[in-house]
Amino acid sequence: MSFADLGLSEEVLKAVFDAGYSDPTPIQQGAIPHVLMGRDILGCAQTGTGKTASFTLPMIDILASGRARSRMPRTLILEPTRELAAQVAENFDTYGKYNKLTKALIIGGTSMDEQTRVLDKGVDVLIATPGRLLDLFERGGMLLNDVKILVIDEADRMLDMGFMPDVEKIVSLLNKIRQTLFFSATMPPEIKRLADAFLINPREITVARPATTSKNIEQHLVMISHTNKRDISGLQKAKREALRQIICQESVKNALIFCNRKRDVDIVHKSLQKHGYNSATLHGDMSQPARMETMTKFKADEIALLVCSDVAARGLDIDDLSHVFNFDVPMHAEDYVHRIGRTGRAGKTGRSFTLAWREDEKFLDAIEEITGEKVRRIELGNGGQSETRKKPDKPRKTRPSRDKVARDTDARSENGSAKAEIRSHQHDLDKQDKDEPVIGMGDHVPAFMTRALKI
Ligand code: AMP
Repeated sequence: MSFADLGLSEEVLKAVFDAGYSDPTPIQQGAIPHVLMGRDILGCAQTGTGKTASFTLPMIDILASGRARSRMPRTLILEPTRELAAQVAENFDTYGKYNKLTKALIIGGTSMDEQTRVLDKGVDVLIATPGRLLDLFERGGMLLNDVKILVIDEADRMLDMGFMPDVEKIVSLLNKIRQTLFFSATMPPEIKRLADAFLINPREITVARPATTSKNIEQHLVMISHTNKRDISGLQKAKREALRQIICQESVKNALIFCNRKRDVDIVHKSLQKHGYNSATLHGDMSQPARMETMTKFKADEIALLVCSDVAARGLDIDDLSHVFNFDVPMHAEDYVHRIGRTGRAGKTGRSFTLAWREDEKFLDAIEEITGEKVRRIELGNGGQSETRKKPDKPRKTRPSRDKVARDTDARSENGSAKAEIRSHQHDLDKQDKDEPVIGMGDHVPAFMTRALKI
């Protein structure tokens, strides 16, 4: 099936052609003709499947006739995070370039006055996060009873983030005669209940088994041999070392590094910077302009490593992301699927590495259960083989080169406990990290480290 078979207008087809897409993805094939016919949609699809275009493309055509009135948006798209909302807005710019549509982005962290001014002029599409939308509504900034199409995107995420009461309130403010498009990566019973409440005779489309991981992602699990439950800072330190070692061994073009806590986002970022890596952070406490600026730089390859929290990185659409690192094992198995799903998108391949220790076993079991896959366990070293390490004779002044690490590894592979020796080796590196400044990169400098950092 081609895009031309879906019933889209010439203008939209031209924009799709300009975007370089040849064939519609399964969710686009399943949804677009039905959205154009005015039917409700219940889409079970992950990000990375072309889900956004499956609703934006037909919406552009539906909106092509008619005009928006002041403060009365014609369509409403609810997104769980500011980044996702901004991405959907970008999609409207890309696919709507041959149509004259007006849109407003109502998200926290940006000026409310400016948002009200845009709404005053009348908008075809309102893209919003639930909290800010209600805020503005309650201040009398808009009327929602002219909304003809409602999109609820990433519903499971909205539920996780506690936004569902806001979403339900927003839905209660809308006209009952409307078209509703409801998307979720997973369909737990609570989401199904909401879908039943919001949708009328929807067309159900499932493009992947709930919470499946893309076949294009090579997943790895690195067990950190740390046993002292009371020494969490020691564990985190060992993980930072392991992270650097993997980055050094892999050819990382760009990567997202997920931490469970905001505090660790900062610590990991500072540690990477201290070791000469080009990194930045993305988390919920940053102002919206700062988040946007960081994302723009990351997408433009000016930042190579982005250390982030789940909320900030949810649904980010980054072309060609080579790696995802889970510095911490996520506590919700579904977050694992979403995190690693940032790579291996749109037919490309990606690699993920999850750092774990023995206390994470229950979370790892949950991940393997939800994805139905066993994640490959590797030990650090050459090519992921189980290897041993020998304590270097003297502390080094510079970071070891990739070749040097491999040579050491080969030499050590004949004897001893791998994990213990990795620990002692890393202890030396760490001691040296702490005591002495890093004064070189060794003889292997990955390309991304040589690019200028303009934060
Ligand atoms: P989404 O699932 O909406 O986050 O989209 C994931 C990525 O797929 C985005 O980078 C889109 O630009 C891209 N994409 C969407 N539709 C297509 C298509 N039909 N062919 C190729 N890439 C697509």
